[in-house]
This record gives sequence, structure tokens and C-alpha cells, in this order.
Amino acid sequence: MEKATIFNIQKFCVHDGPGIRTTVFFKGCPLNCLWCHNPESQHFQREILYNQEKCTGCGQCLQSCLYQAIRLDGKYIVQEKKKCVLCEACIEHCINNAREVSGKEYSLKEVLNEIERDRPFYEQSGGGVTFSGGEALCQIDFVTELAKLCKKRGISVAIDTCGYVPLRALRRCCHMWIYSYMT
Ligand code: SF4
Ligand code: SF4
Repeated sequence: MEKATIFNIQKFCVHDGPGIRTTVFFKGCPLNCLWCHNPESQHFQREILYNQEKCTGCGQCLQSCLYQAIRLDGKYIVQEKKKCVLCEACIEHCINNAREVSGKEYSLKEVLNEIERDRPFYEQSGGGVTFSGGEALCQIDFVTELAKLCKKRGISVAIDTCGYVPLRALRRCCHMWIYSYMT
């Protein structure tokens, strides 16, 4: 897997493992918990999010959508997901920031560059990088490669998982852990 869908790379995290960490939130989870801390992470695909509280019903987004994927229902916007091609035109035209995209494709190099930028914090605090989500292990091929590259650069890796993933992914995770002690 050369690319992964990630919905956030958060800096200066102090609750996702030892020290100061950079947390990479992978998009997509096999569960659908009502109490999910990051509901925007549940779908595996990129998606458009809509914040009703910020919306004034100005209708600018309607005019920008060439695919009739949004309509006004009273004061609020309703989205027809099947028609949406994720062109993001509606986001650019919403001056109230009521619309945003969740999820972006990253290459290994792009994520690694982001992680590397925080190296001084890891070194000063005993921190590192945490792979979270969503469910990070659902993108196990990418996670494995990224973990190896971090390890080669001396960056500590933690994985935050619900464990509800195929056995193959859990095995790969165990192999990574063993590998990290052997190298
Ligand atoms: S992302 Fe593009 S297709 Fe989807 S609702 Fe916005 S303007 Fe329409
Ligand atoms: S452009 Fe933004 S504020 Fe205006 S109707 Fe669309 S979502 Fe609401």
C-alpha cells in the first residue's frame, strides 16, 4: 500500500503514550460505537462534513455544486452522498467554514516528513509517534512500512488499536513488535 487515508496528524499529544508524541489518525474503523471520540474517523473514504451550527443557510454551496449533491431543507443543508464526487468546491465557497473535508491521502514520505518535524520534542521528552484512528491496523500494510521507517530513524512507535481487525493484521503487529526488539 503506497498511500493511506488519514484524517489528522496531531502534534504535541501527551495522552497517547510516553512523552510528547505526534499522533497519526488513520481514517476508517470496523466498529460504529455510539460513544466514538472521533466519529468523523469512522468511514474509510474521504467525506464532506457539515457543521449545522456554523451554517447560516446562505446557499453559496448550492450554487457551487455542479453535481446537485446538496440541497437546502428549510434553513439547513442536506447532502446526497451518492452524488458527491468530493470536488470540494462547496468548501471553498462556504465563508462560514461550515463544510470541511475529512480524510486525505498521504504517501509514506509525506507522513514521515510530518513525523520528523517533531523530532526535537521526542528527544527531549522520550516521546515518539502514535498510530491511532479510526483503526490504524485496518491499513496494516502502510502502518507496517511506516513503523519500520520510524524505527530505522530511531523514533519510538506506539499503536492505539481496538483489536477488532483481521488476525493477519494482529500477527503483523506482533511481528513488528518482535522486530523492534531485534534491531
Ligand atoms: S464536494 Fe463537490 S460534489 Fe460534493 S457536495 Fe461539494 S461541491 Fe458538490
Ligand atoms: S455556504 Fe456554508 S453557510 Fe452557506 S448554506 Fe452552504 S454550508 Fe451553510
